[in-house]
Amino acid sequence: MQSREIHLVQRPEGEPTHDCFAMVTVDVPQPGPGEVQVRNLLMSVDPAMRGRMYAGRSYVPPYELGEVMEARALGVVTASGDPAIPVGTHVNSQLGWREAFTAPSSTVEPVDLHGLPPQVFMNLAGTSGQTAYIGMTLIGDLRPGDVVFVSAAAGSVGSIAAQIAKLKGHKVIGSAGGPAKVAFLRDELGLDEVIDYKAVPKLTKSLAEAAPEGIDYYFDNVGGEHLHAAIAVANTFARFAVCGMISQYNDVGGSNWPRNLTTIMGKCIRMEGFLLFHYQDKIPNFMADITKWYNAGQLKSRETVFDGIEHAVDAFLGVMRGDNIGKMMVRLSD
Ligand code: NAP
Repeated sequence: MQSREIHLVQRPEGEPTHDCFAMVTVDVPQPGPGEVQVRNLLMSVDPAMRGRMYAGRSYVPPYELGEVMEARALGVVTASGDPAIPVGTHVNSQLGWREAFTAPSSTVEPVDLHGLPPQVFMNLAGTSGQTAYIGMTLIGDLRPGDVVFVSAAAGSVGSIAAQIAKLKGHKVIGSAGGPAKVAFLRDELGLDEVIDYKAVPKLTKSLAEAAPEGIDYYFDNVGGEHLHAAIAVANTFARFAVCGMISQYNDVGGSNWPRNLTTIMGKCIRMEGFLLFHYQDKIPNFMADITKWYNAGQLKSRETVFDGIEHAVDAFLGVMRGDNIGKMMVRLSD
């Protein structure tokens, strides 16, 4: 059996290009004792992968040149040398952008899809759902009556975070780029106010108009101008859950960084960055809440799916550009 996989072959300066990646075909051996052979169904495409393309270590080691792009994938076991993980078991792995692999069974995590379709499972029950849930339930002390602002609200994490805030009864303002995303947030997710940040001349002014009472809680996926606007419109004692800063990932010179950070002191704003991997064992109700909300129609899942590993790089460049609504992923097999 053979598998195609995507390697990083060149580190990008600024925006990545196709030249940075190569598709390689490898043999996938039969599993020995304690190993499993897995056929991936879906693989995740995440903005955070951009950070690992830099040579320096951030909070995770960089990708090695000539090695596979590590990322989360959902697969099914096709041959097993471990009786605890039989053929047919669904497994999550972090082994990356590859169609199939054989690996020690300790490197995969058997998962129960809880009746969710695989695409929905990868979005709502994957890193995006977990990150949104943590940001809205554990970080920043979200209080009844808080006015909530979510950036990149039509993306994977943002759309789930915004819906959780709505479920909890908050006024929610979302920002996203373009009319299709605005329609999705307003008409399908029912957000109270939506800002098309690409169409407005001044984001701070638009946010102030959407939230004349000020914002109390900001779920930041974007950094840059969005963070600037959120600081400007925040109420005293506002809390910011800093999930990501995608507008700054390709911005080596820091040209769009917020210029009003001193206001954080004057308004007594509490900013708290968080990374999913520090909290995974702290969300016991996660799957129960997610499946309950999804099955009740209170939580919607939206995915943007590219078919075939040969389109993985297009999907990645697309998620960085904002081509996705909801979770960007690549389907490898049914
Ligand atoms: P996503 O939101 O589905 O996709 C990224 C979105 O960012 C794009 O669709 C685009 O939407 C928006 N964007 C891109 N460039 C932008 C810019 N210059 N200004 C404003 N918006 C921009 O991706 P995701 O996987 O859900 O990740 C969202 C954020 O969460 C990222 O910052 C990611 O790094 C972070 N994250 C953090 C953790 C954690 O543990 N803390 C875990 C997962 C993800 P528009 O069309 O609206 O611009």
